[in-house]
Formats: sequence, C-alpha cells, structure tokens
Amino acid sequence: MLDIGARDGHFSQILTEYFDEVTALDLERPDFSFQLVTTVAGDATRLQFSDDSFDCVFCAEVLEHIPNVVQACREIERVAGHEVIIGVSYKQDTRLGRTTCRSCGGKNPPWGHVNPFDERRLARLFPGLSIKASSFVGSVRSETNPVSTMLMDMAGNPWGTYEQDEPCIYFKRSVTGKRLAG
Ligand SMILES: [Zn+2]
Repeated sequence: MLDIGARDGHFSQILTEYFDEVTALDLERPDFSFQLVTTVAGDATRLQFSDDSFDCVFCAEVLEHIPNVVQACREIERVAGHEVIIGVSYKQDTRLGRTTCRSCGGKNPPWGHVNPFDERRLARLFPGLSIKASSFVGSVRSETNPVSTMLMDMAGNPWGTYEQDEPCIYFKRSVTGKRLAG
C-alpha cells in the first residue's frame, strides 16, 4: 500500500491493519515511525516507483492542492496494481473563503484548494479505472456568486481562510505576509 501525502501518519498507521506493508510518502520524508510503515520523500507528480508497484494507492487531502493534478493522477494510476482510494473535496465552491495574499495581493482559494472535483472530473483524471464505491463525509452547501465574489475581492476578502497553514499559491509565502519557516 502506498499512502501519498502521509503527513503525521494517521492513515498510514490505520492502513497497517489491512495491509502487510505501507509506504508513507510526502514531499519531505515523514519523521514518524510505525511498525510495517516505510517513510519516503517523493513528489506525487514524479513517483520514483515502477509500474504496478503497489496493490493499492491511498491519496486523501492531496489532489485538491496540486496544480498539475493531471500528471499526479497519471502517476497514481501507473504505480497502482489494483485499487486506488482517493479522498478529495467534492464540488467545493472555491470562491468562498478566498484570501487576498498580504505578500503579493494574489487571490487564493481557501486552504490552497486549486482543484474542485466531481464524479466526471475524477473519471476523466483516472481513465484506466472504474468507480467501485464512493462515500461522502459530511455535507455543506455553501455557495456564492460572481457579483458577491467581485465585491469580496474589492474589499480584500476580509473573511478568508487567513488561519490556513497552506502558503500563497503564487509565491509560497504565508497569505498573512509572514515568512514561512524553511
Ligand atoms: Zn502571495
């Protein structure tokens, strides 16, 4: 099993209950250590594994952040021998909760979510796979409209997600203008 975007290893650890070996991958090598889990550094758009290396690939809370999502999905499909488990934000209106970056003035989607998803887009992103099951976690119906979005942009998006950890999507600085560590 390959866990892409492993962060603190929450899912990697759970996955060891179902798989003999879990490879936990993140941009920087994760620093946790759990039995049956190997940690590696890697980039979802350029995976270092050969074709069909894993029985299953798990990727949650990752694809909404990747600008080159087409390439990332191609890589996931390539290294997956059988199943792929994908978790993404569903039909999110990313105009809502936008921030105006205090460093560069750029408009950022909430939490750096550059990609919205629905069933059709997922099917297009994984042309070699078919959907076996899908489920939803929670449900919100928050939407906005172009006029409101324009007015919020003019006002500097005062109710944006400024508490987010994700950096500005343009220059990788904090959206509040503070320099990021590292
Ligand atoms: Zn910026």
